[in-house]
Amino acid sequence: SATSTALGGGSRLEGKVALITGAASGIGKASAREFVQQGAHVIIADSDKEMGSHTAAELGARANFVHCDVTEESQVAEAVDFAVARHGKLDIMYNNAGIVGPSFPPSIADLNLDEFDRVMRVNVRGTMAGIKHAVRVMKPTHAGSILCTASITGILGGLGPHPYSVSKFTLPGIVKSVASEISQDGIRINCISPFVIPTPLVVAQMQKFYGVEREWIENMIYELGELKGAKCEDIDIARAAVFLASDEAKYISGHNLVVDGAFTCF
Ligand code: NAD
Repeated sequence: SATSTALGGGSRLEGKVALITGAASGIGKASAREFVQQGAHVIIADSDKEMGSHTAAELGARANFVHCDVTEESQVAEAVDFAVARHGKLDIMYNNAGIVGPSFPPSIADLNLDEFDRVMRVNVRGTMAGIKHAVRVMKPTHAGSILCTASITGILGGLGPHPYSVSKFTLPGIVKSVASEISQDGIRINCISPFVIPTPLVVAQMQKFYGVEREWIENMIYELGELKGAKCEDIDIARAAVFLASDEAKYISGHNLVVDGAFTCF
């Protein structure tokens, strides 16, 4: 985002190969940028071809775009194979692609079950596909770090539409379910639960329902936050992701790193 300040060049992910889904925009894009600045090669896997190739071009020679709809297992498998074919390995798989779905505010009476299926397909099935195929290529190397983007809507009820919230409650469960098995192969898995960040996903949703300006939305999010004097930005999630992806976190697995300025602590 415009207000984000990158850490600048570093070597915390030097020589690592990372695949990030949903990296054309928002949190995924900020993470891709930070990963590149920390020395990684990044595969930007996204269902939006135009935005994805634009983001890859913006991030320079260490970023490549691959078209991938995470609801199609074959496309996830191909994206993972592309990373390995190009760079010889996959060190980091970041399952970040997600959608909110149209229903807001939450109303069980208005729940559209087709919409529920669609959100679960992207946020949960897409994540499972990413984990499955990352483990396939990481297992022979006895190493790897898998990340997923969960949410504070998966910690407290009532914050998001039901399909979205349910999908996000599922992610820390997936992490725990998979972590013990893959730890036998030296692979780590963790998720990050961000507070609200005015990414295109959030701004488009709020503008549609409330018909308000971006500035109003940003102020409202700031007022909602518990931690005063700071805003939650995409770079804050990117930095958490760099840490969990790096060897600095070599004994951290099965964890949900909540980046919410204590919002869910009351
Ligand atoms: P965003 O809309 O800016 O970015 C999401 C990206 O995912 C887009 O580039 C989109 O094209 C891509 N995508 C959507 N469906 C896809 C699919 N089927 N296959 C591949 N790519 C697909 O949104 P964001 O806010 O950066 O969200 C990223 C993740 O962070 C999501 O999982 C979201 O649920 C989560 N999250 C966001 C917030 C927030 O406040 N922004 C808070 C908590 C969690």
